[in-house]
This record gives sequence, C-alpha cells and structure tokens, in this order.
Amino acid sequence: MIKVVVAGALGRMGQESCKAVLKAEGMELVGAVDTREIGSALGAHLGIADLEIKVSDNLEKTLQDLKPDVLIDFTRPGVVQGNIELAIKNGVRPVVGTTGMSSEEIEKFRELAAANQVGALIAPNFTIGALLMIKFAAEAAKYFPHVEIIELHHDQKMDAPSGTAIKTAEAIAAVRGNMAQGMPSEFEKIEGSRGGNYEGMRIHSVRLPGFVAHQEVILGGVGQTLTIRHDSISRESYMPGLLLAVRKVMSLNHLVYGLENLLFE
Ligand code: NAD
Repeated sequence: MIKVVVAGALGRMGQESCKAVLKAEGMELVGAVDTREIGSALGAHLGIADLEIKVSDNLEKTLQDLKPDVLIDFTRPGVVQGNIELAIKNGVRPVVGTTGMSSEEIEKFRELAAANQVGALIAPNFTIGALLMIKFAAEAAKYFPHVEIIELHHDQKMDAPSGTAIKTAEAIAAVRGNMAQGMPSEFEKIEGSRGGNYEGMRIHSVRLPGFVAHQEVILGGVGQTLTIRHDSISRESYMPGLLLAVRKVMSLNHLVYGLENLLFE
C-alpha cells in the first residue's frame, strides 16, 4: 500500500485528489493538511461518511507521525516550496501539482532530492491531453516557428501565465530558439496588450468564471494557421495522471519535472 498525505486537501484540486486516492487500488489516504477548517472531518468535505481522517494544519507533524510514502501538494505558490523541502527532508516523496515556482527553485529541489536520494515529481499539468498538446506544438514549431499561446483559466487562479503555458513555451523555444516575431516597430496603446514575452513568443492569459483550464497554441505560416487546443472541462481530467505519478515516484530517487518525462519515457 502506498500511504499518501494530501496538502491543500480542502482546495478544488486537493478534494479531487483525496477522492481519487481513496478509490485507487494499492493506495491509502492517511492524512489531510490545510489551513482552513482545522480539526474538521475530511469526510464531511468530501461527502464521504466513515472517514477517520481529520484536517491538520501541521504538515511536519503529519509527516513525522503518519510516515507516508508520498505527499501530494495542491496548495499555492509561496507555500509549496516549504512543503517540498519538508517532505524531502523527512524522506517523503513529493508529487506536486502546485504551479508558480521559478526554474531556480525547481533546480534547488532537484539538488535536494538527489542529495537525500528521494524521488520527487513536479508537474505543471497532469492531463495527458495537455502533455500531447505540448509535444505536438513543439513538433509543429519546426515548420511553423511563429507562435502565440493563449491560456484560459477560472478567475481564482493566482499565477500567470499558467505553468502549462510556460512548459509549452519552453518546449517550443527548445525547437526554434529565441525569435523576433511580428512588426519590429509595433507598440502597445494599452500596456500588456501583446501579452507576456518568452523568447519572442507572446503568451496571453485569460481569467474568467466558467473556465477550468484551456490552452490554444496558434502557429502562423504564409496564408495559413494551425491551432492546437486542449480543454480540461473537469478536474477529474487530472486524476489518472496524478495516480500514475504517485505510483511511478515510488521507484525514483531523483526529481522529475514534467509528467511527460514519466509518460513518454
Ligand atoms: P485552491 O485555492 O482551491 O486550493 C488550495 C488549497 O490550499 C486551499 O484549500 C487552501 O486553504 C490550501 N492552503 C493554503 N495554504 C496552505 C498551507 N500553508 N498548507 C496547507 N494548505 C494550504 O486551488 P486549486 O485550484 O486547487 O489549485 C491549487 C494549485 O494547483 C494551484 O497552484 C494551481 O495552479 C495548481 N493546479 C495544477 C494542476 C496540474 O495539473 N498540475 C491542475 C490544476 C491546478
């Protein structure tokens, strides 16, 4: 049995993760950490009776008392960094979906995981469809190097652009490099109109109620455009990838960034 603790357990992704772990074969949900509703019964939030787990706000004590194999983290930028460090130092494998970390922070955790010989996974996106979108977009950019990315999310999301958009831009930049696009003399009449700039590629972030997580990669050529689009229409879409990560991280002794590196290996 893989023993799992979920941090951010009462959040949108945390609750979905708790339910998925409870249903998964070979996994046991042993603890739930959040900073809200401390001491309340987790089952009451999930609509599940007869669940013994109570919500704790003390991750360190939870890890030391329950000795889980894996910590799933869906908290928020600024919190996740401390959680990863605590997990690795306690020999618990972090499987992290929380976005908003810098590449320097990810490198620091890569070194920490290697020094402690602890498996870890940081994945800005757990849906197979989004990972395929990134793969196909990078392939298409060999032929269509002019690219813009539009990502659309619910309006409670804190970081912009999304971790998936950054991963997509990194994958495309690895193929086409830094490139000047559009009119050299273009100017913005309203600041930010042209979006964020990653290696010459523009990234636009839409935040509205009604969306879950969506992204379009638009590649432009002479007289044609190619659009590659992915839509997560419910948070269940993340669960098969998350459970796969929990299983695979058990046999790692280093940090992997991006589920694609476990899926398409
Ligand atoms: P949310 O706001 O619904 O949930 C976050 C939860 O974390 C809340 O319940 C909050 O109380 C809790 N929290 C805050 N501080 C905490 C702390 N110190 N310790 C423990 N819990 C704490 O957010 P969400 O929509 O569930 O998203 C969470 C994160 O996951 C975001 O960074 C989001 O971008 C990311 N996300 C990743 C994927 C993926 O596939 N990797 C998919 C969706 C969302």
